[in-house]
Amino acid sequence: MSEPDLAKITDLGELERYINECVACPLAETRTKVVFGVGSPTADLMFIGEAPGFHEDQSGEPFVGAAGRLLDELLNTVLGLSRSDIYIANVLKCRPPGNRDPLPEEIEHCRPFLRRQDELIAPKIICTLGKHATSVVLRKNISISRIHGKLVHLGGRRLFPTYHPAAGLYNGSTKQLLIEDFHKLKHLLAIDDEPEPSVEEDQEQMDLFGQ
Ligand code: URA
Repeated sequence: MSEPDLAKITDLGELERYINECVACPLAETRTKVVFGVGSPTADLMFIGEAPGFHEDQSGEPFVGAAGRLLDELLNTVLGLSRSDIYIANVLKCRPPGNRDPLPEEIEHCRPFLRRQDELIAPKIICTLGKHATSVVLRKNISISRIHGKLVHLGGRRLFPTYHPAAGLYNGSTKQLLIEDFHKLKHLLAIDDEPEPSVEEDQEQMDLFGQ
């Protein structure tokens, strides 16, 4: 389906049904389930991870393994929120075999789906989890240690990159940085919608998701 046709899909359920049938790349042959995303269709906050892993592929739900448990803990203890208050999606909707990094062509096949998901949910803040998701959304190779915890304004949208929770599982100092970033996120969610002065501004890209 072309992007103009995707634009005709006006609700998340319809988009999910469409993506469930996707055979645009070879991941369709190895997946168990498509992992579309979960949460509130009107969430103010949307998290974007990289790709489903083993447990997500089995269950069809994002972040259900150990990294997901840390994400839930941060959500509950720092933000005071649960999964039903926010939305969680991934860049790729299907698991790359052996949990390898997503290939550029897989990312490009899935990018329009993520963009449409974002358009339909229209969250106030997108929080990318880790280097890969942040690099995809900003369409450039970023250093997560440099950009995490900083608000990026792009085309009137607000992006808040942080570390991938998997990185916090094995490294106490990264977990601490995640906790600090979630506290900043809590503050950003609480303040007025008006764009604050940019911390990071991208001059080359006009919009999120590489438009
Ligand atoms: N890691 C991700 O990036 N996404 C998931 O859904 C699970 C683990």
